[in-house]
Amino acid sequence: MEECIFCQIVAKQVPAKVVYEDENCLAFLDINPLAAGHTLVIPKKHTKNILEIDEATLKHLICVVKKLSENIKGKLQADGINIFQSNEKAAGQEIHHFHIHIIPRKLEDGLELQKYWAMKIKKMSDEQLEKIAKLIKMEDSVEKVEEAPKKVEEEKPRSKEEVYWMKREMNIA
Ligand code: AMP
Ligand code: ZN
Repeated sequence: MEECIFCQIVAKQVPAKVVYEDENCLAFLDINPLAAGHTLVIPKKHTKNILEIDEATLKHLICVVKKLSENIKGKLQADGINIFQSNEKAAGQEIHHFHIHIIPRKLEDGLELQKYWAMKIKKMSDEQLEKIAKLIKMEDSVEKVEEAPKKVEEEKPRSKEEVYWMKREMNIA
């Protein structure tokens, strides 16, 4: 993908203010930031968007986004963080190499991203919502997203008696 600007950044052919790098992922400052510290997190491998990215890379990227968000929030004393991501032209994707925006926010920073959400209030009736929910509901037959790993219960230390009986059962007492 010679003509892709983000691939050129990965290849170090175009400079960028890199804030994190590992084998599969790169994070750098947005050249035209919405706020100081506005960061883009990308896979090194050219992938168009969320519809194309493989799950393992996506999982890795979102963990990097979390770590960077914590770091940015602390170091820049942000009051909040917006995570933003666009797919395809209709959604406003300008660079067709998958990227996640991290936007640090301050209370009353004047960025009126919330105004957009106000536009969506009461646009649909309950019947319309019901119809759409039925249409897009994923049935059991559809492959389910892998479940989050269950929290491993911390094991209590075994008593001397328990250890003795376990060894007896294994014939090593
Ligand atoms: P999107 O609209 O989600 O595709 O966002 C693309 C983002 O890439 C915009 O916020 C741009 O400011 C940013 N951008 C474009 N070119 C560069 C570049 N060379 N270095 C850093 N950020 C860039
Ligand atoms: Zn690319």
